[in-house]
Amino acid sequence: MKHNISIAIDGPAASGKSTTAREVARRLGYIYIDTGAMYRAITRAALDAGVDMNDADALERVARSSKITLEIKEGQQHTFLNGRDVSGEIRTPEIDRNITPVATHPGVRRIMVEQQRQLAQNGGVVMDGRDIGTVVLPEAELKIFMEASIEARARRRLKEQANGDPSITLENIKADLARRDHADSTRADGPLKKAPDAVVIDTSNMSIEEQVETIVQLARERQQ
Ligand code: C5P
Repeated sequence: MKHNISIAIDGPAASGKSTTAREVARRLGYIYIDTGAMYRAITRAALDAGVDMNDADALERVARSSKITLEIKEGQQHTFLNGRDVSGEIRTPEIDRNITPVATHPGVRRIMVEQQRQLAQNGGVVMDGRDIGTVVLPEAELKIFMEASIEARARRRLKEQANGDPSITLENIKADLARRDHADSTRADGPLKKAPDAVVIDTSNMSIEEQVETIVQLARERQQ
């Protein structure tokens, strides 16, 4: 008998997690939860509220009072912040620059982790982030750790964000990725870390289809 499992996918920024995770979820008929979008939405809310990014209590209040919902519509992932679709507004260099203090604050992480566990409580989920296999879902039946060279990741991000904007360059993106990799890996609470039982996939030279197939195959084996 097949049973619904939980799949945790972690890895650095732009390693191909979200596109792959969303398609894996679609093929398995699972729910996809993009935890990066949740931290992005809280950052949007904090910027909108004019909160000082060093004010831990104010950030926690923003996280507690913000309602984030994730929906897939016509194959596209949508993120709602207090009922407003902020999908476009959360994938910008402004958010990339301001997200680190938000994601580093333990009070914010505690609130996010709680919500993420609730979303995953019935299994049948693919969740991607940095701390999913280690903190959010340590009991997940399948854990994937995705890696890719910084060059490959920067090229992917450039394709996503550039839109003809000359201020967004490969070099700027590389610098931002390196900064976030460092901040994500060295924070005390919920750092980016490979779980000991995670399967490592280097996506530098893999197509999305190859990544998806690899994970779906592993998931089917563990569903038995
Ligand atoms: O995955 P994505 O690049 O959209 O995530 C944006 C930022 O959110 C990351 O750089 C990281 O700082 C933070 N994040 C996190 N924990 C997660 C998911 C994302 O700290 N589970």
